[in-house]
Formats: sequence, C-alpha cells, structure tokens
Amino acid sequence: MHYLPSPARYQHMTYRRSGRNGLKLPAVSLGLWHNFGDVDQLSNFRAILHRAFDSGVTHFDLANNYGPPPGSAEINFGRILKEDFAGYRDELIISSKAGYTMWDGPYGDWGSRKYLVSSLDQSLRRMGLDYVDIFYHHRPDPETPLYETMSTLDLLVRQGKALYVGLSNYRPTEAAEAIRILRELGTPCLIHQPKYSIFERWVEDGLLDLLGEEGVGCIPFSPLAQGLLTDKYLRGVPSDSRVAKGVGFLTENQLTPERLEQIRQLNELAKSRNQSLAQMALAWILKDERVTSVLIGASKPEQLTDSLRSLENTTFSPEELALIDKQSGK
Ligand code: NDP
Repeated sequence: MHYLPSPARYQHMTYRRSGRNGLKLPAVSLGLWHNFGDVDQLSNFRAILHRAFDSGVTHFDLANNYGPPPGSAEINFGRILKEDFAGYRDELIISSKAGYTMWDGPYGDWGSRKYLVSSLDQSLRRMGLDYVDIFYHHRPDPETPLYETMSTLDLLVRQGKALYVGLSNYRPTEAAEAIRILRELGTPCLIHQPKYSIFERWVEDGLLDLLGEEGVGCIPFSPLAQGLLTDKYLRGVPSDSRVAKGVGFLTENQLTPERLEQIRQLNELAKSRNQSLAQMALAWILKDERVTSVLIGASKPEQLTDSLRSLENTTFSPEELALIDKQSGK
C-alpha cells in the first residue's frame, strides 16, 4: 500500500526555534534508539513513522549505534524513507550521531576526526542519504582535544554532509568551550541533547542557563525516563514493555518500592490535570522556553498519539511544580 501523508499534518503541531538559529523543530520529536532495530517488527515501526509524520512530527533522531544490532535502525529507517517518504525529504529533519563504540579497533569510538568522518559516511550509506540535517558528537571524549572534535563537525558541514551540528551529554563547562570553538569556526552549535526528565535533573544545574544565554537549542532525551514516567509499571511489568523485553538499560531492579510510590503520586497529580502521566511528564519539560523539542520514544503508534496530547496543556501552577519536585524527590 502506497503511503500518502495526511494533508492536515501541519495543523496541530507547534514548531519551536532552536535557540537563536534559523531551524525550527516540532515540539515533540521521535527517537529511534529502541523499537526500530532488526529485533523489532517492520510493520509496527512503519506505522509509528507514518503516525508521527501525519501528526506533524518532522524530526527523527538516530545514531550510528541504534538497533540492535548497531546500525540496523539507520538501515530500517533508510528503507522506509525510500519506500514511503521519497518525495518528502525536504519536510524532514534527520539527525545522527557518533561518539559511542561502533566498530572494533581504535577508530570506531569516541571523538577523533578519523572516527567521526568515517562514521557519518557509514550512516549516510545506511540511510541512503546525501546529508543529515543535524550531526551530533554523542558524548564528550576525555582524550581527544576538543578542537579536533569540533573542527571535524565544522568540516562535515563544509563538506555538505551535515547542515547543522549538535552536542550530546556534554556537561556545562565542556559544552561552553565546545560552543565557543564552534562559533569561532563559523559553524554555530544548533542544539544540545541531554538526558532530562522529572526524575533526572542535572541540566537544571547550569546547562539550561548556558544554552539560554548562548542561544543554543535543547532537545531532552528519555523524557519519560524510558517509560517509568507512565502508569504502565503500577500494576506489574507488562510483557510488551521495555523492562520485560530486556534489550536496553531499563531493568526491573529500577522499579523499587520508593520509585513506584513516586510514580503513583505523580500519576494522581496528572489525573487532577486531566492528563496521563506521560502527557504531564512531557508537558513539564516543554514548560521551559529554552527547550526546543522533547525527544520521545514510542513502541506503538497509540503511544505517540497519547504523548502528543501533552501539547494541549503545558502550563503548571507554582503549587503543581512544587508538588512534582517533592514527589520526585528533588
Ligand atoms: P522515553 O523516555 O520517551 O521512553 C520511551 C518509552 O516509553 C517507549 O519505548 C515506551 O516504552 C514508553 N512510552 C512512550 N510513550 C508512552 C505513552 N504515551 N504511554 C505509555 N508508555 C509510553 O524516551 P527513550 O528513552 O526511548 O529516548 C528517546 C530518544 O532519545 C531515543 O530514541 C534517542 O533518539 C534519544 N536518546 C539519546 C541518547 C543520547 O545519548 N543522546 C540516549 C538515549 C536516548 P515501552 O517500550 O515499554 O512501551
């Protein structure tokens, strides 16, 4: 069946500017870390991508190592791009990254020029693309000089293989230095991708302030703490959940009685706002104007639709914010 995107796809999504750059991203973006590998079902991830684009989600986030096996998410995404989205490349923002272990030997990891150039070439081949819209350094490298890594991002833009560049998992001090180098090179940092959720607050200690001041966007990942910030684990571990599948870093021992009690209380607060806990958790991130987009995952099209409804109410009273801080143990 030939896919025809919904003509109404731009009617309900909000697009936010990434810092002080030209690019706007949908308030909700979709990541392909889980659920798009060779271990997953093509018909399901195809349906998720269709649902996303039909809802105005124009941004899809990948990395060299997404799968499993590593690389398979890019191959699978490339196949769907070719088969279903062929006429729509200019409506899409596609990102990839390098920085974690991808292949054996000294050139398949971290932040050297050798690794980043080879890895982006591989990603482009896997996805069947001429360029990515955003290329990230996935994590800071304590050994490679920062100038080498940043000047490689600049080089890749000049070579036309990426339109914009970003940082991920950089702490405030190293992010500040990287942003400065990139600006001097003439390739300003578009965006930073940190882990941020009601349960994971490190970005509140300096990073968000830095990004706001520097005019760099922010796209928080794992905003639902991989599914913990939903009601799904309140009645045991569903067999189709990330914990049950056991393919990633979310394990049953993270479902402690204390954590479950926090989730229960947050779930009650969400109900009082007429939101699902997932919707409240995403709205809570989007309340901050320095956040460009919230980067979610989804294992089913219905989850995506549920999460997108977070946009209907992103306002919180001071009392609600204080309760969320208290209930999450901040
Ligand atoms: P989330 O915190 O959004 O978790 C997604 C999971 O939550 C889904 O797979 C699903 O779990 C569950 N879920 C999602 N929506 C709902 C809903 N409405 N109701 C109930 N359950 C729901 O994000 P991820 O951890 O998946 O990360 C998102 C993206 O961030 C990644 O795909 C990747 O692009 C990026 N990322 C970047 C990293 C980096 O280092 N830069 C690291 C990690 C992620 P279930 O499978 O149980 O149904």
